[in-house]
Amino acid sequence: MPGFELFGEEERKHVNDVMESGVLMRYGFDGMRNSHWKAKTFEKAFAKRMGAEYCQLVSSGTAALTVALASAGIGAGDEVIMPTFTFVASFESIMALGAVPVLVDIDDTLTLDPKAVEAAITPKTKCVMPVHMCGSMARLKELKAICEKHDLILLEDACQALGGTYDGKPLGSYGDLGCFSFDFVKTITCGEGGGIITNTKQFALNADQYQDHGHDHIGNDRGAETHPHLGYNFRISELHAAVGLGQLEKLDTFLAIQKKNYTILRNELSKVDGVTFRTVPEGGEENYSFLNFFLPTQELTEKAHKALGEAGVDACFYWFKNNWHYINGWEHLRHLKSMGNLPQEIQNQIQDLNNTNFSKSDLWMGRTISSLVKIGWSEEQVKERALKMKSVIENSLYSHHKSTL
Ligand SMILES: *Cc1c(COP(=O)(O)O)cnc(C)c1O
Repeated sequence: MPGFELFGEEERKHVNDVMESGVLMRYGFDGMRNSHWKAKTFEKAFAKRMGAEYCQLVSSGTAALTVALASAGIGAGDEVIMPTFTFVASFESIMALGAVPVLVDIDDTLTLDPKAVEAAITPKTKCVMPVHMCGSMARLKELKAICEKHDLILLEDACQALGGTYDGKPLGSYGDLGCFSFDFVKTITCGEGGGIITNTKQFALNADQYQDHGHDHIGNDRGAETHPHLGYNFRISELHAAVGLGQLEKLDTFLAIQKKNYTILRNELSKVDGVTFRTVPEGGEENYSFLNFFLPTQELTEKAHKALGEAGVDACFYWFKNNWHYINGWEHLRHLKSMGNLPQEIQNQIQDLNNTNFSKSDLWMGRTISSLVKIGWSEEQVKERALKMKSVIENSLYSHHKSTL
């Protein structure tokens, strides 16, 4: 996945343009900047590539989620439905606005289970936030139908699925708003950065203002601009946008390499009896940033994961026992360990996460291993990795039988 594996002339050229003018800010200084507008150019190109009307760049993927929620009018006491398997940014962005995260189970897609979503809807629900984890998507058609029925915002977190599609549309462009991260380990990177896409003009306008202290961005004198709403500073710098612009030019090359490497790994693992793969909803195509597979039981999965590590197969993740991506590891959320007081709405409304039954999620997560798909691997390295993974997993699944025979 990580775009940083293939830095080159493209990024250097755009960064040099910025360094030569010395304008590191995305707004203003028109005379000094030699016509270089890296953030603006990125936004235009990204919207086009994603088939969306509007794009707003911001300082991180977490900022993208926060700004997207704020732009849709979500605030204190509003409930946002999110999955148990995701990155911590999901609840961080919701809670930053005083809104209340409502965690629900995932299914064999490793993303939101539509039935669990529908069951969690209350009069306070405002938004459903599917997270397309590890390169593949949620059941978007079902989720959209639920959102339309209950008049809810559908906000896609596509931070890990840039380049995947559903129903012929780029992930992130199917819902009302889509969010992306360009942090250092994502498919394309700005170093730090994030993006929001939408077709709703009002959301785009709100995002544009909110991420820059509420500035209306009208006219040529920044100091004279007015502020229709309260905002914050989630701006991206021109330097970060420059790196991202270089990466964006190579996105389709990165995706093609990912698919090729993924296919080699998958073909080899398909030969192992007992390995099954994560469900990709009909009409969806992954971005191939991870190969996600299930083993028959939690015990065997833990054993295989440990064996893979011992055999030197790097970048295989067992999220079930990981600090950052599954509810099991979010002790700080479960016990609401905040440095200061949390908004009353969160304190009053948040579900008792220590006593909520997430056994359906546990069943899938306990059996899931994800192998990162790197774009810097040579074909030989991928083939070697595939054979090694196959033999280690086979050993983990069947050595017991052999030794008892
Ligand atoms: C990386 C990531 C984010 C947050 O992005 P940052 O740019 O690191 O803030 C949010 N959601 C998911 C699913 C991610 O993988």
